[in-house]
Amino acid sequence: MKILVAVKRVIDYNVQIRVKEDGSGVVTDNVKMSTNPPDDNAIEEAVKIKEAGKASEVVAVSVGDEKAQETVRKALAVGADRGILIKADGVIEPLAVSKILQKVVEKEKPDLVFMGKQAIDDDCNQTGQMLAALLNWPQATFASKIDVKDKSLEVTREIDEGLETIEVNVPAIVTCDLRLNEPRYASLPNIMKAKKKPIEQILASDLGIDTKPRIEQIKVEEPPKRKAGIKVASVEELVQKLKNEAKVI
Ligand code: AMP
Repeated sequence: MKILVAVKRVIDYNVQIRVKEDGSGVVTDNVKMSTNPPDDNAIEEAVKIKEAGKASEVVAVSVGDEKAQETVRKALAVGADRGILIKADGVIEPLAVSKILQKVVEKEKPDLVFMGKQAIDDDCNQTGQMLAALLNWPQATFASKIDVKDKSLEVTREIDEGLETIEVNVPAIVTCDLRLNEPRYASLPNIMKAKKKPIEQILASDLGIDTKPRIEQIKVEEPPKRKAGIKVASVEELVQKLKNEAKVI
C-alpha cells in the first residue's frame, strides 16, 4: 500500500499574525513558517502505518513556492520516503490544489491520500473534500482514529453528537484531526538522512493547472482590540456588574 500525504507550508501557529498596513493580507516576510499542524498528524499516521508493515511507501507532496521544499524536507525527516514539490507562486486556492493533487494521484497511483482536516491560514477545510469529488473516491474527514483493514479503513471521526465510526473502501481520502496521534520530532540523524532523500520538482503549469485565484480578497483587518479588564473589590460587586452591566445573569 502506498500513501500520499499532502503537507502545506503555513505561518507557524505560535506567531502573532500581523495584518499589512494596506489591508491586502498578512505579513509573511521574516515570519516563521511551519507545516500546517494537522498535516504533521497526517504524516505521522502514514509513517506509523508503514512501520506497522501495512504500507510500503509514504510520499509527501506540497504545492507552493521554492520554500515549500522545507515542508517536504521536514516530512522526509520524520519518515516519508520521498517528496514531490509542485511549484506555483502566490495564493493557491483549495480548488487549484485539489486539481493539482488529482494529477499527482493519477501519476503516483497511491492507495490512500492523507491530508490535514484544515489549513490554519485559510481555514478552508475544502481541499480533501474537493479532491475526493474530483477522483470520485470515498472520503473520511476529521479522522481521530484509523484502523487499516484488508481493503478498507475503519475511521473514527469526531462529530457534534460524539464519535462516529465509518468504513471506507481503499482507495480513499482521509483528512486528519489533531487528536489522531502525537507527531514525533525529527532527530538530528534523521534530518541529515532526509537531505539525501529525493524531492521531485514539477511546475504546476506543466500539469496544465491554472492556479490563478478565483476569489477576490477585498480586505483583511485586525480583529477588534479587547478592552482592558477591571478588578472588582468584592463578590457582591462582581455579581452586581454581571447582572446590571454585562447582563449575563
Ligand atoms: P484547506 O482545504 O485549505 O483547509 O486544506 C486542507 C488540507 O489540504 C491541508 O491540511 C493540507 O493537507 C492540504 N493542502 C491544502 N493546501 C495545500 C498545499 N498548498 N500543499 C499541500 N497540501 C495542501
